[in-house]
Amino acid sequence: MLTNLKPQPADKILALMGLYKEDPRDTKIDLGVGVYKDASGHTPIMRAVKAAEKKLWEVEDSKSYTGLAGDPAYGTAMRDLVLADSVSADRVAAVATPGGTGAIRQAFELARMANPDVRVWVSNPTWPNHVSILNFMGLPVLEYAYFDAVNCVVDFDAMIASLQGVKAGDLVLLHGCCHNPTGANLTLEQFGQVADLLLEKGATALVDIAYQGFGDGLDDDAAATRLLASKLPEMLVAASCSKNFGIYRERAGVLMAISEKAETTPLAQGSMNYLNRQNFSFPPDHGPRLVTMILTDPALKADWMAELEEVRLGMLGLREQLAKELRERTNSDRFDFIARHRGMFSRIGASPEEVLEMREKFGIYMVGDSRMNIAGLNSVTVPILAQAIATTCK
Ligand code: PMP
Repeated sequence: MLTNLKPQPADKILALMGLYKEDPRDTKIDLGVGVYKDASGHTPIMRAVKAAEKKLWEVEDSKSYTGLAGDPAYGTAMRDLVLADSVSADRVAAVATPGGTGAIRQAFELARMANPDVRVWVSNPTWPNHVSILNFMGLPVLEYAYFDAVNCVVDFDAMIASLQGVKAGDLVLLHGCCHNPTGANLTLEQFGQVADLLLEKGATALVDIAYQGFGDGLDDDAAATRLLASKLPEMLVAASCSKNFGIYRERAGVLMAISEKAETTPLAQGSMNYLNRQNFSFPPDHGPRLVTMILTDPALKADWMAELEEVRLGMLGLREQLAKELRERTNSDRFDFIARHRGMFSRIGASPEEVLEMREKFGIYMVGDSRMNIAGLNSVTVPILAQAIATTCK
């Protein structure tokens, strides 16, 4: 049986991690995989997470199963964090999932269960795993225009024009904040226009929010998701705690389904529990439990928020420094968009050849589409990168 298997394509970003590891140069700079790193290149455990783990070790007296949706307190805490009071609580069903990826997969499963003919719209470009999972599931994927690759901004007119093709029953995937891979985001007003269009078309939005707190702050980053939730009769939200709690390997995510009427919530909840049961049964508990402890303990929450804000401001500072260095070196405002992009990534518009040249000549590792992880920089490496971009990019 196993000899019948065909080799699968390697994940490009994970392959890049391997190349970086093999590079013997000590001046090399890793701007590849989407993991937050501090100035010394380390991915720290957040203080509040450590404190919650310590407390959990003391008080946890059983490792028995939780429920198929995970601990309901986690669903409540995440609903409050992401949706706040944009919808009434009785319209929201929630299940814990293995990371944000698990939530996205379960969202696609739920959409297909509700509409076997569902078509899924994704931005061009989007996080490659969206497309990969949809292809694997055999769901039709449609792309809507998103990025103006020349000016490195959102091409909103083109986006709206392509979304005209949306049909009733389609699922439209939107990045709630900090678009991956581009770093270019819609304004709140533009999100409102997209909501109006989806309403007119009778399509359902799936919001993927994986970087809340990394862009403009916890509430600002959730503002688009909350606006969509308040305007649309129903919506799916896939949220990840990997980045904003720094608990990547614990696999903490949540899928929320907002129904038009509270009467439908048990149906959505039961379907999501069922899907968890079929795919992995009980979701991981450790990460979600830490998140719940932090979000429900005022002191831990305050400390988490303070540390997250330091992380966010650190990345913003690096963006500003890089844009400034590039302004000086290119004598132009061509790269000013880097300071306006938000989140961990920016796509800088370099060609695949230029990306390769920067890797070979300068040991700078960014993804082939010229997405770079801002958190892979520090104040010493920013000028090195600026020099490499200025001399390489035509
Ligand atoms: N959505 C987007 C846009 C992402 O960038 C990521 C992480 N790279 C995820 C979802 C899922 O992250 P995780 O499964 O690690 O929580």
